[in-house]
Amino acid sequence: MKRLQTDVVVIGGGSTGAGVIRDVAMRGYRAILVDRADIAQGTSGRFHGLLHSGGRYVVSDPHSATECAEENAILSRIQGSAIELTGGYFVATHVDDPAWGDEWAKGAAATKVPFEEVKVSDVLLAEPRINPRISRAFKVEDGSVDGWQLCWGAANSAKQYGAQILTYHRVTKIERDGDQVAAVICRDEKTGEDVQIDCSFVINCAAAWGGQIAAMAGCPDVQVVPGAGIMIAMNHRLVNTVVNRLTYPADGDILVPVHTVCVIGTTDQKADDPDKLQISRDEVQQMLDCGELLVPGFRNARAVHAWAGARPLVKDSRVGSGDTRHMSRGMSIIDHSTRDGLKGLLTIAGGKLTTYRLMAEHVVDAMCEQRGETRPCRTADENVPGSETGTNYVITHRLHDREENWQREQILCECELMSRKMFVDALAAQPKGSFDDLRRQLRLGMGPCQGGFCSMRATGVALETGHIDAERATGLLRLFLKNRWIGIWPILYGDQVRQTALDNWILAGTLDVGHLPETKKEVV
Ligand SMILES: Cc1cc2nc3c(=O)[nH]c(=O)nc-3n(C[C@H](O)[C@H](O)[C@H](O)COP(=O)(O)OP(=O)(O)OC[C@H]3O[C@@H](n4cnc5c(N)ncnc54)[C@H](O)[C@@H]3O)c2cc1C
Repeated sequence: MKRLQTDVVVIGGGSTGAGVIRDVAMRGYRAILVDRADIAQGTSGRFHGLLHSGGRYVVSDPHSATECAEENAILSRIQGSAIELTGGYFVATHVDDPAWGDEWAKGAAATKVPFEEVKVSDVLLAEPRINPRISRAFKVEDGSVDGWQLCWGAANSAKQYGAQILTYHRVTKIERDGDQVAAVICRDEKTGEDVQIDCSFVINCAAAWGGQIAAMAGCPDVQVVPGAGIMIAMNHRLVNTVVNRLTYPADGDILVPVHTVCVIGTTDQKADDPDKLQISRDEVQQMLDCGELLVPGFRNARAVHAWAGARPLVKDSRVGSGDTRHMSRGMSIIDHSTRDGLKGLLTIAGGKLTTYRLMAEHVVDAMCEQRGETRPCRTADENVPGSETGTNYVITHRLHDREENWQREQILCECELMSRKMFVDALAAQPKGSFDDLRRQLRLGMGPCQGGFCSMRATGVALETGHIDAERATGLLRLFLKNRWIGIWPILYGDQVRQTALDNWILAGTLDVGHLPETKKEVV
């Protein structure tokens, strides 16, 4: 068995784990992060894309509202390459009570969430597709955040401070030495090899899977309830500003512009297993109806992809066990030394992607306290790699880069303006990565054609680079198409059926992808 030594092991490479490894490394500890899959492949890659202004929670969860407002300002500064400053509106549609706006404004003032009441006519001028029957509107500082860029930014910062990031390492066991954590055992999912990481501290950031991890250390009954929600991406930006309904938080009340698309969401239902989330046709219809309320004619736009994620909600005794919509969005830290008599293990769950840095700060403070050390947090003071300039990305940034290299750069993915060089460089940096790993960093196949045009080009180019052989290229293409299909199948109606028929004609009809030689070894 391979053996590694470190001070701290961080389990889970979502936003919380990425924030924690950065914080731990910046405070001078030796640290290793392990995730069973790629960075941000759990909930942090399956969320709505909203950098909360706090406005959503000013009445329902005032403490979270203030945290969101403060973290929004910090992240916009230190992680500009992951955040578009779209701004946001809270609007009362014709089915909402405009008087509720008074309570909302009172809450916003009390929680220090920046806001301004604006004229309906100004909103309609800025966002002409919004329902003209809105009666009241407030402007807030909502933004659009790319979860993959955000998590990789934090992970790369941690690497600069000496941390190791081990993706595709699944934790199978936590070894203890009496009442002290001693090691984490992982399986390298790419090679099948077991790895033992000796350490004196473990921070469990496995979120919806956090209870499973705690149980591996002999700490039972950590109840993280998966609150599942679905989202649907439409084929273009129907709005350029985040649009929220001015109402108590409910299903389908936010539309977020994210890169080239806009996303309606979400639902909230207790799931039994965070690895088996369903997208029902009823939920899809519910989301489209909700979109129609914000933007009349919403259903006429093409839905291109649907996905589901699981909120890691720590069980709340104040609400029923199935009522995930009303469980707190606040963070919870479980100290297993006081709860279970095991030193060197903390579990953190709950919160939001917007508050990930603060969550990390709190849990690493708790670790330092348990170790009897004073090392202050510095994560708010330094920009992450890739965001050094302090500027925020804008929707036109790839077009701008393209115009600088006019006619020299071959384009592999027209929808997302992804060049051959971007793809080749990413593959060289991550030669064992799947096309989905590269997709998360480059947005390969995430636009309107959903990989119909670009996936086979990417396969050909990948083969040409010499990083992979023909068998692996075939396996990667199959896996990519299979994964894309999971998100297309639930929204097959209208124009998307036509697009899918065209993609099928290209991939199956012309290239006969279905009859490529079977791969001997399945690609993970
Ligand atoms: C539908 C929905 C919409 C949301 N929208 C927003 C939003 O717009 N804005 C916002 O701020 N927040 C939003 N949230 C909340 C936010 O997405 C989550 O709070 C956040 O992403 C949780 O991050 P995490 O790192 O705690 O969990 P995750 O991202 O799930 O990370 C946990 C990691 O643990 C890993 N893991 C599990 N088991 C093991 C194992 N055995 N070994 C190794 N690794 C393991 C998983 O692979 C995973 O990567 C939304 C959540 C949902 C569900």
